[in-house]
Amino acid sequence: MGKFPHTVLHYLSDPSLEGSAEIFAIEETDFGLAVILDQTLFYPQGGGQPCDHGFLQVNDQKVGVISVRFDAGIVYHFTEGNPEVLSIGDTVNLHVDGERRALNSKIHTGGHLIDTAMINCGYDFNPIKGYHFPDSPYVEYEGMIELEDRERICRELEVEANHLIASGQPVESFIVDEYDQLKDYCPTVPEFVPKDKPIRVVKVGGVGCPCGGTHVADLSQLGQLRVPKIKSKGGNIRVSYRVGVSS
Ligand SMILES: [Zn+2]
Repeated sequence: MGKFPHTVLHYLSDPSLEGSAEIFAIEETDFGLAVILDQTLFYPQGGGQPCDHGFLQVNDQKVGVISVRFDAGIVYHFTEGNPEVLSIGDTVNLHVDGERRALNSKIHTGGHLIDTAMINCGYDFNPIKGYHFPDSPYVEYEGMIELEDRERICRELEVEANHLIASGQPVESFIVDEYDQLKDYCPTVPEFVPKDKPIRVVKVGGVGCPCGGTHVADLSQLGQLRVPKIKSKGGNIRVSYRVGVSS
C-alpha cells in the first residue's frame, strides 16, 4: 500500500470534461509540486498518449494543470506555478481542455485503427509500441516488410482504415475481470498488461485491445486517415499515420 488510496480514474468510463474532486495531498516530487486528488477526469500520460491539460478551480481561483502523470495507482497533477490557493481537504472543480482531449483521443484511436487495418489486410505482425503524439504518430510491429512492398501496403491500409471510418462504427469498451479471458477478445495481449486486476478492453473496428487511453465515441469522428510511410526501425516495422487530414 502506498501513502494514499489509488486515484479513481473516471476518464476510463466517463468522457466528461468537468467535475469535482477532493485534494488528498500537495506533494513535492522530483518533477515539481503535484496535486493528488481522490478521483480525476485528467488523463495521465501513458500508453503512447499525451496527458490532458486544463485547470483546477477553487471559488474563482484557477490553477493550470500542465502535466499529469500516473505512478503506482496515483495520478499526479502538476500545476502551473505554486498552487498556494489550493489546500488539502479542499473540494476543487476539474476542467479538462476539451480541444486537446479530442485531438489526443482521435490520434490514439487512429493507432488502434492501424492495428485493425493490418489484421483485415492480412498482415499478421505483433504490435509492440504506439506513439500517439500529434507531431508524428506511428505504430510499431515486430517483423519486416520488404522495401518494394511498403508503398502498396500504405495504400491498402489507408483504404481499409477509411472504409472502417466511413462505416461509422462505435468504439466499444468493457472490463474483463480475468487475465486469461483477454485472449478471447484481443488478438495480442502485451507482456506489460497486469495479471492481477481487471483490465479494460477497447474494440475498434471489431478488434479488441487492452487499453487505458481515451478514444472517440465513433470511428466516423476520425475524418480521413493517411498512412504516409512504412519504414524499418531497429529491426521493426514502423507504420506512420495521420488522422483528421483532408483528402
Ligand atoms: Zn486505446
